[in-house]
Amino acid sequence: MVDFADRASAQEARDREDAIKRARGTHRKTKPMHLSCASCADPIPEARREAVPGTPWCAFCANEKEKNND
Ligand SMILES: [Zn+2]
Repeated sequence: MVDFADRASAQEARDREDAIKRARGTHRKTKPMHLSCASCADPIPEARREAVPGTPWCAFCANEKEKNND
């Protein structure tokens, strides 16, 4: 069944392309992730990254910056 195998691999290639396009699309929409604080270099917990997407600071430094702005 050469014909079936050819069709299967063509479908596989399309699925792979779709997956790559989806991955790239998702990647573009995602805000840049800061894994560590831009100020003190401490790791930013995943919970904080989810609560404040794209924040470059840990909770402590963000607080300090808020205080300084007052
Ligand atoms: Zn920090």
